[in-house]
Amino acid sequence: MTQTSGGDVRLSGISKTYGSFTAVHPLDLTVPAGSFFALLGASGCGKTTTLRMIAGLEDPSTGTVELDGKDVTALPPYKRPVNTVFQNYALFPHLDIYENIAFGLRRRGIKSVKKQVEEMLDLVELGPMARRKPQQLSGGQQQRVAVARALINHPRVLLLDEPLGALDLKLRRQMQLELKRIQTEVGITFVHVTHDQEEALTMADTVAVMNGGRVEQLGAPADLYENPATTFVANFLGTSNLIEAEVVAAGGDDLLLTAGETKLRLPAGRCRTTVRTGGKVLAGVRPEKISLAHADDAGGVAEGRNRLTGRIRDAGFLGVSTQYVIESPGAGRLAVYEQNVERDPRLVPGAEVILHWSPAHTFGLDAAQD
Ligand code: ATP
Repeated sequence: MTQTSGGDVRLSGISKTYGSFTAVHPLDLTVPAGSFFALLGASGCGKTTTLRMIAGLEDPSTGTVELDGKDVTALPPYKRPVNTVFQNYALFPHLDIYENIAFGLRRRGIKSVKKQVEEMLDLVELGPMARRKPQQLSGGQQQRVAVARALINHPRVLLLDEPLGALDLKLRRQMQLELKRIQTEVGITFVHVTHDQEEALTMADTVAVMNGGRVEQLGAPADLYENPATTFVANFLGTSNLIEAEVVAAGGDDLLLTAGETKLRLPAGRCRTTVRTGGKVLAGVRPEKISLAHADDAGGVAEGRNRLTGRIRDAGFLGVSTQYVIESPGAGRLAVYEQNVERDPRLVPGAEVILHWSPAHTFGLDAAQD
């Protein structure tokens, strides 16, 4: 289809209060033109309110919304170069798919809609279904119609509010890739609201993790996952193993820590909090970064790795991988994901093991956080 360039969105000091309740604290956020941007957070964190303020469906209590450098704060929704796709599709049941998609053009008095509607049908791969009614389509297909119907107006920014929330898990995963393909193809800026961390990480170029009406961290998916800045982000984006440790040497490139009897190393550059010798820090490591060795093979673990001893409590076989829960005397309960390329048959519940990982995969967080 014709490439339509996307617009950028700039929020400056934007907030929303309802009576004495603050749903969104003053927020500064820039969404780069042409990017796929996700607002991610648990229910009630303020992500929908933020999206609705961009759309013009909610008046901000303070601050401004700019689209392409133009202040649109006072403009009603229909005068903004944005379109919104909602979870419930909101298709017209009495119109077929073709007419649902053509609706925006016809309303603007455009007569020759065929070429554009056909382009849209191709984009969302629903050409053969053009003459069906919405209720004759699956949920995923209906959602694709809703996206096509919004895109045909060539908005500069497409806002998506939990658009995949009504789909079952498998379809949801399929549609995530589909939406990503569509966004890359059309080049329009997408701002996508979701509470599903996997969805945000799969689809977005940039993710804003929201908590309690504030953006807690902003970054590329891999960066947020590898370098969470807070315990909230570490826990919200996948499983984190957070080990309470004491700092025994804080001077060099690596901080030296102890957790129980065990010494651990943490690169100083990956520690998100100021530490001093004798202070506390949370040392984190993602489950797939940890390797397991049976205790009998402890001698084979390379020098220089962080290592802990433990006992397997549970082992869940998932086909490609196995998820272990390990009880470690110095560190508590830890999760380990191992690929099942060469499974060691001795790694069963009750077995004594060594957990080991590269110090470079360790991140440090403030131990005093909630
Ligand atoms: P969800 O995923 O459940 O929609 P959310 O992160 O999108 O959650 P919002 O819908 O933005 O959250 O709501 C943020 C907070 O503001 C919630 O605590 C909600 O109850 C409150 N809120 C939203 N709209 C109103 C309103 N019109 N009046 C009062 N409080 C509201």
